[in-house]
Amino acid sequence: MADLLTCREAAQLLNIDLLNLVDILAVGDIVPTEPDGLAGSEVWARNEEIRLCETDIDLIKAELRRRQFADFKRDYVDVYQQDEKPGARGLEFGPGWLGVLTAYADGLRALNAKWNNSHAQLRWGKEKFGALHLYSDYLLATKIEVINLHREAYKSSLQTCQECGLPARLRFGHSICLTLCDRHKHTIGEPDPTRDGIILDLNAWMLEQRD
Ligand SMILES: [Zn+2]
Repeated sequence: MADLLTCREAAQLLNIDLLNLVDILAVGDIVPTEPDGLAGSEVWARNEEIRLCETDIDLIKAELRRRQFADFKRDYVDVYQQDEKPGARGLEFGPGWLGVLTAYADGLRALNAKWNNSHAQLRWGKEKFGALHLYSDYLLATKIEVINLHREAYKSSLQTCQECGLPARLRFGHSICLTLCDRHKHTIGEPDPTRDGIILDLNAWMLEQRD
């Protein structure tokens, strides 16, 4: 077959970092043309053998758009505006949490409508210890209704695969923990048997240890 690209060539074409590209393939939902039937869990070890065709590239383009929450940013400009300052943070978490993010944004929008003239906005968000942390305007974040939206998003994220949005739980590897479904749990590597399936909310667990 003509025109198969290596990962490096594809990354150049897509104008993204090579590591970023390999990470996307390692999730396992986009299976490269070569080697035949490569599983996501083997992608890191065998990334030099990978060859991608034009269809693969198109799928990766669509995946990049999904990972950038492009449609959310277009549909929720009233409650989310990306900060453009140097060092500003964005939506730094997996695309599987789109539903959690949207529920939060719908909640914020409803509160803005209820409180005349209020313009509460989400500023940024990140994944930490497998949970979603969202940051909205300081003043309004002190209102109990907004705090509840944050709590709900946090709780939902720990039950939602950050890659695909299916039901999930916190998975513990030896150096990483992420909330993933059965299909995507391989991305943490070998599970750590002393913690995997035992700690399901690391923040709550740490608080318990302190008592
Ligand atoms: Zn998943």
